[in-house]
Amino acid sequence: MNQVEKIFCPVCQVSFILREEKEAGKKIVCPVCGAVLVLEKDNSSWLARRPDDLTPEEEIRARIENFAQLRNYKFNELKEPLVEGLLKKHERYGDFYCPCKIDNIPENVCPCLETRQGSVERDGRCHCGLFWK
Ligand SMILES: [Zn+2]
Repeated sequence: MNQVEKIFCPVCQVSFILREEKEAGKKIVCPVCGAVLVLEKDNSSWLARRPDDLTPEEEIRARIENFAQLRNYKFNELKEPLVEGLLKKHERYGDFYCPCKIDNIPENVCPCLETRQGSVERDGRCHCGLFWK
């Protein structure tokens, strides 16, 4: 029998079980943060890496759309200015850190840890108003 093997998401730093057929080079979506990832086989274990064929804008747009779909969240008119803010952070600091938070640390990579842990359910929106219940 196949062993259940967890795959580590390099974006949200969480391991998840992939419930679909694994194939090297296949694009998958992290069920925790919505990141688009590419599967790779390393010896006998599977790895996921961030895609290198997407522009930063394509990558973050796909990620936030996937995350909203996974959680059933909505966007409003704040979306476009916040996507711009995320792209500026990526340009300046190398990753999609929350444009409304000062610290450019892994837990503030969009969707930030607070949001992944349910702040939208609690407050009706995420800290910066990108995701809405
Ligand atoms: Zn993830």
